[in-house]
Amino acid sequence: MRQIAIYGKGGIGKSTTTQNLTAALASMGKRVMQIGCDPKADSTRMLLGGKVQATILDTMRDNGPGGVTLDAVRHTGFGGIKCVEAGGPEPGVGCAGRGVITAIKLLEELGAYNDEFDFVFYDVLGDVVCGGFAMPIREGYAKEIYIVASGELMALYAANNICKGIVKFAENGDARLGGIICNSRKVDNELELLTEFSKKIGSHLIQFVPRDNMVQRAEINRKTVIDFDPACTQAEVY
Ligand code: ADP
Ligand code: MG
Repeated sequence: MRQIAIYGKGGIGKSTTTQNLTAALASMGKRVMQIGCDPKADSTRMLLGGKVQATILDTMRDNGPGGVTLDAVRHTGFGGIKCVEAGGPEPGVGCAGRGVITAIKLLEELGAYNDEFDFVFYDVLGDVVCGGFAMPIREGYAKEIYIVASGELMALYAANNICKGIVKFAENGDARLGGIICNSRKVDNELELLTEFSKKIGSHLIQFVPRDNMVQRAEINRKTVIDFDPACTQAEVY
């Protein structure tokens, strides 16, 4: 089982990229679980046909910590992908990072990892690399990390910050950066910029994902690109 964490700035395209990636892997016959670790809780929405599923933290608040079952917080989406959303605290109260810790610990207690998965993906907000959002790598769940970035300054700033976090946690764990994924924002010389940035941080650019309206077209139809039009060029990229 490969456990992979996808980090990046909010809005950069982590969930879009991760869902298309997991959908592509599922199409190739792989067994996959995707865990959204972002209070936005929309990591798996296109895998579930646009459905908003109950998050772990919401269910815990409603039913109490003992009242959460795996069936209540894990739904099966496109290609048999098991979809989970950690969720977040009510705005203004509590700590979102802490929520990720609680959610993943509970998933483990509920036996969510017992199924024979080929891949488990964590889709993690990377604007703040607090202890909570670092949890999937810090606690030894995900060993492989990929960062989604673009040529925009703030996206590179966040990517660099996430790398600093990885260096810190690499001291007592074995999580490693697998590479940078450029989700294009059509910035001038973006491919060169991201190639150079990746080199500077001692890594490499593993994929350039073009900005393509096909993503929006699929979204309006509540699907990933892989599901909506598996033969299109954007699907090929994913
Ligand atoms: P994050 O999970 O990092 O917060 P999302 O995956 O939700 O970001 O992406 C935000 C929006 O950007 C998506 O709703 C989608 O419409 C758009 N988007 C992401 N990647 C692409 C792309 N390669 N081409 C076109 N639109 C994209
Ligand atoms: Mg997201």
